[in-house]
Amino acid sequence: MRLYILFVCPIPRVLLKVLYNVSVLPVMGDVTAQAIYLNDCYQKEFESIVQEVNNGKYIVLEQTLFYPTSGGQPNDTGILITEDGHIYKVLAVAKSGNDIVHEVDHDGLKQADKVKGIIDWDRRYKHMRMHTAAHILDAVLYNEAGALCTGNQLGYDKSRIDFALDEFDRDKMEHYIKLANSWVEKKIDVKTYYLPRDEALKIPGIVKLAAIMPPEIKELRIVEIPGIDLQADGGTQVKNTGEIGKIVLLSVENKGKKNRRLYYELAE
Ligand SMILES: [Zn+2]
Repeated sequence: MRLYILFVCPIPRVLLKVLYNVSVLPVMGDVTAQAIYLNDCYQKEFESIVQEVNNGKYIVLEQTLFYPTSGGQPNDTGILITEDGHIYKVLAVAKSGNDIVHEVDHDGLKQADKVKGIIDWDRRYKHMRMHTAAHILDAVLYNEAGALCTGNQLGYDKSRIDFALDEFDRDKMEHYIKLANSWVEKKIDVKTYYLPRDEALKIPGIVKLAAIMPPEIKELRIVEIPGIDLQADGGTQVKNTGEIGKIVLLSVENKGKKNRRLYYELAE
């Protein structure tokens, strides 16, 4: 069965804002059987078959654990190994149409080649922790200050969240980070599941989003952090908020009259 997923990570709230402002649907993809990283975010190795090779270095696999850059989360890196032990480095991964395309470091892979893929787990896991932390921060900023997240960029060393807020107060910001960390410390299990469109429509907060989506989108992938956040999401997340460690505020910048940019990192 084909599942449809929103590839814009940040939240219905953000999507709604984008949609209202621009009146067009954001980038949206249907995820085919290729995207097995959605089944188990903790799987590090997989086997697959080369489905397509373009210009020597751009590889489509039957299925992949490599996360393609989307929704503010950077792509995974790692290697592909052929049956005869030849190693190709995966430099970048992106969505192209309905395919996930892997850019490898040199030519040689051929259609129908069997490969083993290994993702760089250190990098991926950091992005997972950063991603779930971003959901908590978005929710706290919205609940406490009514601040809408307008964008984000996750990274390995630091991540940033842009949000709309008139006043900036460093003390308040530290307070929000403290609140976010209290959710981390509660060690809450993060739930991921699929909901039929009709059922998603009943959930407060994503009602409007679901309602304006094209009718052919039958199912939504939902990521829920019980008690704090629930979103339609196509990213990789940790299983428990305790894995985030500790959110550390790095800085807040003013980006225009109402826009603030918050940088954070994670301590173990
Ligand atoms: Zn997300």
